[in-house]
Amino acid sequence: MIVVLKPKTTDKDISKVVNLAKKFGFDVNISKGAEKTIIGIIGENVYERRESFEALNCVEEIVAVLKPFKLVSREFHPEDTVINIGDANLGNGNFEFIAGPCSVESMEQMEMEAEFLSNLGVKFLRGGAFKPRTSPYSFQGLGIKGLEILREVADKYNMKVVSEMMSEQDLELFEEYVDVIQVGARSMQNFRLLEKLGRSTKPILLKRGFMSTVEEWLLAAEYLFHHGNDRVILCERGIRTFERYTRNTLDISAIPLVKNLSHLPVIVDLSHSTGRRDLIAPLSRVVVASGADGMMIEVHPDPERALSDGQQSLNFNEFETTYRSSMKLYQIMEEFVWS
Ligand code: PEP
Ligand code: MN
Repeated sequence: MIVVLKPKTTDKDISKVVNLAKKFGFDVNISKGAEKTIIGIIGENVYERRESFEALNCVEEIVAVLKPFKLVSREFHPEDTVINIGDANLGNGNFEFIAGPCSVESMEQMEMEAEFLSNLGVKFLRGGAFKPRTSPYSFQGLGIKGLEILREVADKYNMKVVSEMMSEQDLELFEEYVDVIQVGARSMQNFRLLEKLGRSTKPILLKRGFMSTVEEWLLAAEYLFHHGNDRVILCERGIRTFERYTRNTLDISAIPLVKNLSHLPVIVDLSHSTGRRDLIAPLSRVVVASGADGMMIEVHPDPERALSDGQQSLNFNEFETTYRSSMKLYQIMEEFVWS
């Protein structure tokens, strides 16, 4: 960590920084320039003390030499991480789809979904049972009943269940019914929830918060690692910008960026990124070409009658076309571009 002092600092100022460093057991390296003095602070976990240095009046800025996240970083773990979920994998060089409705609505609906999706070759069935709705008057999900339905149909069609957990109190329930626990965009910085999920053995699908930077997102993943869970899948789902034609703005640059910064698998949720069914097919090609490990899409047997997010859900025909063309493009990319 480098401490840059304000211009015209005195020896007394320098001693203040040095004494503080000594107090914490760190070594220092002082470099006095014509304009500015900078002091290198060397030692284990120096960043934990960053704010103590920042609080000194003579300090202009602190420059971090290392990235603030470690366990999720590519430097720490150069190979891509593969997450095994039963007989399915994420991040192993294949492209996986996570599909299903925004909300679980009934057994009949989920039976149709699972039958259709599993026949296509989709391994991951999504569906919200506890829904994070902006309004308390919107459909809130079927709760435990929704999880039971998901488990039953997923077992019948040999699929894996992905569903969002909003409260740390529900962990036991989710450990029983769900294969991948989703942390929603609104919960990405719920640190108590992350701590609790860090102690779970279930893989976590960590959505990017819609107001979060890539660094904040990776630090949220670092929380999970720090508390013991290294089975994390990152999911870009669009961020809030001034653009209003789309619900969110898909940050496609985040995919190659995060793949550089981290060893974790990264997927894209195209339904929440766009909020519009008509943009999903064209953007699915962009997602495949970006090098993502997979894609999440909301699918409904009758989107016009969906209890939530129908406007960003594909019907079965639309999904099938998108699925098949994505898989074809993936093969072409593998054969002619990435090889
Ligand atoms: C969802 O996937 O159902 C959802 C609510 O997504 P997000 O947290 O990204 O808004
Ligand atoms: Mn939704």
